[in-house]
Amino acid sequence: MEIAATIEQVRAQVRAWRQKGLTVGLVPTMGYLHEGHASLIRQSVAQCDRTVVSVFVNPTQFGPNEDLEAYPRDFDHDSNLCQSLGADLVFHPEASEMYAPDAATYVEILSDMPKQLCGKTRPIHFRGVCTVVSKLFNIVLPDKAFFGQKDAQQLAIIRRMVRDMSYGIEIVSCPIVREADGLAKSSRNTYLSPAERQAALVLSKTIFMGQDMVQNGETDVHKLTQAMRDAISREPLARIDYVEAVNAVTMEPVAQIHGAVLVAMAVYIGKTRLIDNFLVEA
Ligand code: AMP
Repeated sequence: MEIAATIEQVRAQVRAWRQKGLTVGLVPTMGYLHEGHASLIRQSVAQCDRTVVSVFVNPTQFGPNEDLEAYPRDFDHDSNLCQSLGADLVFHPEASEMYAPDAATYVEILSDMPKQLCGKTRPIHFRGVCTVVSKLFNIVLPDKAFFGQKDAQQLAIIRRMVRDMSYGIEIVSCPIVREADGLAKSSRNTYLSPAERQAALVLSKTIFMGQDMVQNGETDVHKLTQAMRDAISREPLARIDYVEAVNAVTMEPVAQIHGAVLVAMAVYIGKTRLIDNFLVEA
């Protein structure tokens, strides 16, 4: 497995693969890899001849008061995991390799889509995500790119960007990987104290409760989300950012569970903001 710090190295390697007629999969990550990331890498290795994993904590998707500096990093662990999973190339650039000091070009969806859900408290987040993913697409030129359903709004936004910008890259969505007790795996779980780790179970428990309500026939979004908010409010360490049901493609709020609906939440456990969701298929 090769480790590349520069865009040129990646381009040269991918060019050589392409000359042999090999297909390329891309798994974009911010590192501190866990079993959720591993599931994406496995999918790429299974579906593509060569797999590139990017490990880059992207500064443009962090707001001024967010955890860019504190974001956990362990590149040795990440590269070992990538190798053990059969990845072929890890792209691990410095921020200066990705962004010129006077970089001023962004990729941004100008609909309400990035303003919903997480966009309400993270107004520049999805502009940063679209910009970096767009750059990674241009650098790697993959056939397929793999994203987790854990970040459902991100996935929907990337699909929209790919369609609007005619990227011609297949976006593959991978299911949420959870800890044995239900908590969705996240690099940010590492911020949690033991008491907070316990309290964080309120997210997955509430997701499962919501899923049960829908399976049992609840279609009224107000009733559903109110029951979910009530359940979260009973946990003293939890503070709700949002609990919402939206159209799974457009991210517009819906009043009824009808068609493909995403039920998503962001909840602070202490200072750590965690997300979780479930998808109701059409
Ligand atoms: P991140 O490193 O947090 O930016 O995540 C990189 C990719 O891994 C994104 O596509 C995430 O949606 C995906 N991912 C993160 N956590 C999980 C998880 N628990 N299950 C599935 N995919 C995940």
